[in-house]
Amino acid sequence: MRSMQIINWGKPLELREMETPIPKGSEVLIQVEACGVCHSDLHIRSGFFDLGKGEKFPIEERGVFTPFTMGHEPVGTVVATGQSSDEGIIGKSFTIYPWISCDKCEPCLNGYTQVCDSPNIIGTRVDGAYSDYVIVPDKKYLFDYSGINMDLACTLACSGLTTFSALRKIQPEFLGSQDCVLIIGAGGLGLTAICLLKSMSKARIIVSDISGEHRRIAKDLGANYCIDPGDSNSIENLQAYAHHNNGKGIAATLDLVGLPETMKFGLSNLRKGGHHVHVGLFGGAHTISLPPLAFRMIKISGSYVGSLREFKELIDLIKSGIKLPIPITQRPLKEASFALDDLEAGNVIGRIVLKP
Ligand SMILES: [Zn+2]
Ligand SMILES: [Zn+2]
Repeated sequence: MRSMQIINWGKPLELREMETPIPKGSEVLIQVEACGVCHSDLHIRSGFFDLGKGEKFPIEERGVFTPFTMGHEPVGTVVATGQSSDEGIIGKSFTIYPWISCDKCEPCLNGYTQVCDSPNIIGTRVDGAYSDYVIVPDKKYLFDYSGINMDLACTLACSGLTTFSALRKIQPEFLGSQDCVLIIGAGGLGLTAICLLKSMSKARIIVSDISGEHRRIAKDLGANYCIDPGDSNSIENLQAYAHHNNGKGIAATLDLVGLPETMKFGLSNLRKGGHHVHVGLFGGAHTISLPPLAFRMIKISGSYVGSLREFKELIDLIKSGIKLPIPITQRPLKEASFALDDLEAGNVIGRIVLKP
């Protein structure tokens, strides 16, 4: 099989040929038809996450070493199964839940399988789908996506699931038309969040993004109000919008960027009792004044991808007719490195999907 691999951290990926794996036990071998490119792949390629204040978290401390194949948003057809799997699924195409967990540790037993202590996540811990084949450990991670466009089905496993799970945390069904939700960042995650939130809530949607093009698309997808956080009067305008027509201010913020600046922006704009959900992995560190956290009764949560059950719920929601018209660009697998470069340079609208 052919894989685009990280050979040296921080360097362009290289095309390598190797033996196609043979599935054992409950495993299934998937012939990859498409694989989404994710912003977190940029961090993996670089070899570290930025913890701020000069501190880095090296990927190798997770036990991940080069050569490594990324790709955690695959869709593909089952071409072989292990002895204890189900031969009946051979020839069928599925979207794949990549956040593989041990199902035995404390987080797993508490339902937080996505933060398992011993995970085998496809494309971030074990070799992924920047390849023409990938192994999935069990058929329970395969989901039928009939009725959903294949390229969109890829992105559901990460950007779709991440935003869905983050939105669930703010309980959008209890928000009304006088409540506002501020979405920070209108990349692939932000655009997905707008579409999902519209179907889950009556809340007004405000989007903050430094890119005029991203704001324009956010507006097209249904954001009620968009602001450029770089404008000197952005906070004033944001609060004026959030309070006009008996508006009750910003009930929740979704930080899909994850920089110190975006966290500060989100927290300072929340109303009392509001909920800030931190999702983006750009990195850095932010200092918080402590008394206002109590005085304003602010809630801060972290949210990381989503559970297997949430993935099923999300797919059912999309199958029920929720539209996610996120711009998706197809690129050949061998252009994976260029695709990552474009993403890093901020030149990507929506998502990229690689085709082997
Ligand atoms: Zn991802
Ligand atoms: Zn576990």
